[in-house]
Amino acid sequence: MEAEDTDRTDCLGPGDEARLFHRAYKFRIYPNAEQRVLLAKHFGCCRFVYNYFLETREKAYKERKERISLFETHHMVAEMRKTEQYSWLKEIYGHSLQSALRNLDSAYQKFFKARREGKAVPIIRNGKPTGRLMYEPRFKSKRDNAQSVTFPDKVKVVDGQLKLPKFRTAIKMKMHSPLGGRICHATVSRSVTGKYYVSILCEEDIPLAQKVSGQIGIDLGIKDMAVCSTGERVANPKFLERGERHLKYLQRQVSKKKKRGMNRRRARMKVSRHHEKVASRRKDYIHKFTIRTVRENQTVCVEDLNVKGMQSNHHLAKSIGSVAFAEIARQLEYKCRWYGRGFVKVPRFYPSSKTCNHCGYVNHALTLGDREWICPNCGKEIDRDLNAAKNIEVKGIEILSGCGAQSDVKQKGGEAAA
Ligand SMILES: [Zn+2]
Repeated sequence: MEAEDTDRTDCLGPGDEARLFHRAYKFRIYPNAEQRVLLAKHFGCCRFVYNYFLETREKAYKERKERISLFETHHMVAEMRKTEQYSWLKEIYGHSLQSALRNLDSAYQKFFKARREGKAVPIIRNGKPTGRLMYEPRFKSKRDNAQSVTFPDKVKVVDGQLKLPKFRTAIKMKMHSPLGGRICHATVSRSVTGKYYVSILCEEDIPLAQKVSGQIGIDLGIKDMAVCSTGERVANPKFLERGERHLKYLQRQVSKKKKRGMNRRRARMKVSRHHEKVASRRKDYIHKFTIRTVRENQTVCVEDLNVKGMQSNHHLAKSIGSVAFAEIARQLEYKCRWYGRGFVKVPRFYPSSKTCNHCGYVNHALTLGDREWICPNCGKEIDRDLNAAKNIEVKGIEILSGCGAQSDVKQKGGEAAA
């Protein structure tokens, strides 16, 4: 259930070339009391360093228009560790602090990029500006977020247990699959509900999967999660709807409790646990669909979705849908790359729903509500989603062959179509 990107394939042909990929393995870990204390120190110190330098960088920029580089912050932290005031920073692994600074720096780089592109617009809540910008790095909170710390080196797995630098003893770990390559780094996290996990990034050889003849177009939707050009419909899992009703109940419980009281905290924990459960079940459901799709097909075509546009729609069902859309597309893409499948994103401006799959007639009169229609040109009865999936497949294959590429090369739909 907690597996992240760990699906494996066991069908490999002789002579298949192996290529190096990054693959993350997420396992639940069970640190003992002593280890939990040291982990808490790591979380705390990294959060402190992150927030401290966020403030430092912000101040330097606002007051003196100065930019402090990553390199400078590395140096400053090293100096801080030597002082008595901040000597407690020495209790934790130094490279983890550097990693926190790198995270801060990449948050800044993302923000600068967004600003250049004009995406860093003021955030408005309830009609009032919050004084913050989109993409602006934020202070990490001790209470509300999952805590995490990265160990960029010296991570080992010995006898199925996790060995981290600065930790005297190995941490108990539930390893549901073996690691497939060299360990790059590991991130330990503690969820809001108090569970500990490690995500181990490996660099590994992933052999190409045996070639198959299938090809597929997938139309991602809200009513059905996915409709495939093969005619298969993957229903939206019922547990999402069921979960929605229970969530409302739990949230009502929270609002009934006295503010800042113990009971309110307990009730909030139940809400968090519920979110966690639904999220992991959804992830599991999506993983199963994507890996099966990639196993059975040599080429996978999906629509390039304007996820951002969809997220601006506040309708709940749609916001759930958009998260799933992006996640499905993301998983299909990297799994195709791992196993040497063709992957095509069909440009969004291609009218996959409005084009008749039988004769190519474009029905401009079609509205969002029309689930079924009859083609005015050829008279065929058309199912909207299935028709779209078939068109996506045709268009995807066209794009793929149009640039003379092998089907085992991943194509960027937007570029190929331009
Ligand atoms: Zn037609």
